[in-house]
Amino acid sequence: VSVSFAGRLARLGERAGERGFAAVVVSPSPDLAYLTGYSPMPFERPTLLVVRPGLDPAMLVPELEEAPARSSPGGALLEVVTWSDGSDPYAAAAQILPASGTIAAGDRMWAAHLLGLQQALPGAIFQAASPLIGELRSVKDAGELDALRRAGGAADATFRELCRLSFLGRTEAEVASDVADLLVSNGHTRADFTIVASGPNSASPHHEPGQRRFEARDAVVLDFGGELDSYFSDTTRTVAVGEPPEGFDEIYGAVEGAQEAAFGAIHPGVPAEQIDRAARSVIEEAGFGDRFIHRTGHGIGLEVHEPPYIVEGNAAAVVAGNTFSIEPGVYVSGRYGVRIEDIVAVTADGAERFNLSTRELQVVE
Ligand code: ZN
Ligand code: ZN
Ligand code: ZN
Repeated sequence: VSVSFAGRLARLGERAGERGFAAVVVSPSPDLAYLTGYSPMPFERPTLLVVRPGLDPAMLVPELEEAPARSSPGGALLEVVTWSDGSDPYAAAAQILPASGTIAAGDRMWAAHLLGLQQALPGAIFQAASPLIGELRSVKDAGELDALRRAGGAADATFRELCRLSFLGRTEAEVASDVADLLVSNGHTRADFTIVASGPNSASPHHEPGQRRFEARDAVVLDFGGELDSYFSDTTRTVAVGEPPEGFDEIYGAVEGAQEAAFGAIHPGVPAEQIDRAARSVIEEAGFGDRFIHRTGHGIGLEVHEPPYIVEGNAAAVVAGNTFSIEPGVYVSGRYGVRIEDIVAVTADGAERFNLSTRELQVVE
């Protein structure tokens, strides 16, 4: 499936016009990669894509990067304008941006670049471009769904192999390094993150794996993901080293039930916060509501965390093509935690899981 950068640029220009923006300006970031396929390193020399309703898109690039900019996948669609070292790049940007009106600026633009633009364009008002671009990026096309599905499969294979490793007596850091290797050997281009949280550490959702050694009756939260064809996997399973700790089954059951309830609540047109409530109410009924200390999920695609966020207060409806995590958790300080996370896609009539690993409690040795 080939990507239509022309289509993405045109849709952004159209939406910007509809919402009253005079222009959208984007620097090197996943937004730029999404719109043009061009992903140079973000540096102090500004590269700025400018999309204006009704006009051809343009990109300001440092003179020394003209060749890669022109030969990038979307390069032929852009009017490439160069600036040279020693000249003022923001004055050059002002030539391809409107002098007044509202300009949407990408989230990942360095403050230094935005401040430079604001000084060069005192008559313009700058706003965040994330509502515009985030909405476009959150609806995945067939090629993007396929990449995310394959990334999910590679993460599932990683978990299967992980369950056969020995844990007892080894350190979290050792197992985390195994997870990174398995992510790659199962098809990821690179590992992105590997949370291995054992025993009391599992009560900290974003624990950094360290030198603690696994003990019998530890709960272990394994949350990992990698990049595959520019898209990410992200899955969590909680396992027990031997027999589960005291009182653990009840919490595990509540989280498993919450994960299932949230998945069942997904349907196009359903407000994101309603999916969060579906998970939360199961955990509240089990008596652990105050121990579910984070949102139910986040969108995923070219970034591990991106819109839509599955959180109270997000009343926007999910639509077919949205992809996000469903990851309820319960954390009991000093003892243990449980989180179960799958990536899902909203379909025309419900949802599809991209992670198919068993959600039954697995026992490791
Ligand atoms: Zn997280
Ligand atoms: Zn995760
Ligand atoms: Zn996640």
